[in-house]
Amino acid sequence: MATAYLNCRIKDSDDTAFLVEDHLITKTGSDEEIRKLIAGGDETVELNGMYVVPGFADTHMHLLGLGEYLSSLMLNHCTDSRQILELTKNRLQTLKEGEWLLGRGYHDDLEIDRQALDAISTEVPIVLTRACGHVASVNSKALEAAGISEETEIEEGDIDFKRGIVKENALRLLKKAMKEPDESRLQEYIRKGAEYCSARGITAVGSDDLVSFNSSYQVPLKAFEHMALKNEMNVRVSEQCEFHDPEEFSRFLDDGYTAGVGNEAFVIGPLKLILDGSLGARTAAMSEPYSDDPDTCGILIYDDTTVETFFRLAQRYNMPVISHAIGDAALDQILRVYEENMYEGNPLHNGLVHCQIMRRDQLEKILKLNLNCYIQTLFIDYDAGIVNERVGERTEYSYPFRTLYENVLTSNGSDAPVELPDPLKGIELAVTRTSLSNGKAMNMNEALTVRQALDSYTDKAYEQLGLENCGRIAEGYNADFAVLSENPLETDIPDIHKIQVMMTVMDGRTVFEK
Ligand SMILES: [Zn+2]
Repeated sequence: MATAYLNCRIKDSDDTAFLVEDHLITKTGSDEEIRKLIAGGDETVELNGMYVVPGFADTHMHLLGLGEYLSSLMLNHCTDSRQILELTKNRLQTLKEGEWLLGRGYHDDLEIDRQALDAISTEVPIVLTRACGHVASVNSKALEAAGISEETEIEEGDIDFKRGIVKENALRLLKKAMKEPDESRLQEYIRKGAEYCSARGITAVGSDDLVSFNSSYQVPLKAFEHMALKNEMNVRVSEQCEFHDPEEFSRFLDDGYTAGVGNEAFVIGPLKLILDGSLGARTAAMSEPYSDDPDTCGILIYDDTTVETFFRLAQRYNMPVISHAIGDAALDQILRVYEENMYEGNPLHNGLVHCQIMRRDQLEKILKLNLNCYIQTLFIDYDAGIVNERVGERTEYSYPFRTLYENVLTSNGSDAPVELPDPLKGIELAVTRTSLSNGKAMNMNEALTVRQALDSYTDKAYEQLGLENCGRIAEGYNADFAVLSENPLETDIPDIHKIQVMMTVMDGRTVFEK
């Protein structure tokens, strides 16, 4: 049985209709041409002139983390701490015996301390994680459960015991103490995350999940693999594999995994390294102190030797490395490792995730080394309001999205659950570079055009993920597409984020319909 999609406009095509058979687009053409091919029993879908794009690809996120976030207490819309505490108190009533109270998503300017959370409960462990995921506020019960005392010290992490603020590597102590979700729970998270993606027109993601919980990488990996085997994935995943240390990565390679293992529903992608923290939490590693905190330069997660060990191991197995670097000191570290160890021209597609605070010499080096860049234009919404305070004049070469886009392979994403995935909002922010929430702008000479921004979620994104059979509405391609209420290229820029996703089809299956 085939399905004919009729009377639409198609990105990068003059055709107005196309035919989908099984999971492939088998023919594109005029309405007349496609109608002729329809046989009895075939389905027709009338699209009333709406705009069809290849399904968006979000090239860096945490799908499991997104699903967990959607299942937990979401605090992303909170504007003051009173609201957060109120919601936390209400959530307490809904918990089952033995469950921790987990919340996430409030921004860094809101301070929650241990005393406030103890007032809600001293019996149930409470962990509220900030939007960036690098800092959490906890109550006394959570500290006790994690075995954290006034004396606890942790490398590349920080614990403010009195106020109950836990940062970076210290968060692992909390994760260790929590009950591990089993495979069926993980699959529930994957389904939830995928469902959210489908509603935003996303059909493929680069996703970083292997250290989402304290378990070995095998547990989340199996959850994905089993769903892919049974054809249950509603979003394609290229896994950005993160590990706690090089030894764990080495075991993964010994198990026979490397980039390209898997199928089009779930495939092993690059090795992912997290080198520093976040700008909001002032844990991004800077070469000079923060402008609004002269005592802090942020946190580098690994020493140089460990980063190099990871890199050389990956390269030996032809696995690209992509590195989370937000501050310029993290960038210095990884650029040094890339420069000294990488093949000329970067044939393996090693890259950088975030590309935020940098100096001119670093930007030049990124272009010279031809690094692949994974940007998040959605971050502008929040960061435009804090970047000047945090780094002052260092903003000049920061978030240089246009320069990157025009010179090296650059694709977009959300880093969900840091920001909720939303390609249309991401496209608008890439162009306006102006926060929708506070109206502040970031150096406008680095704005993308609408065309570039749209491609950063489609053509460039598929190239980045290496999904060669996706990303076009053309014969022989996978039937992965989204139907939009309007064409972003013809919409007033401030209205782009209001365009609606009307339908999403992945692998020939309708996974979302309004
Ligand atoms: Zn991330």
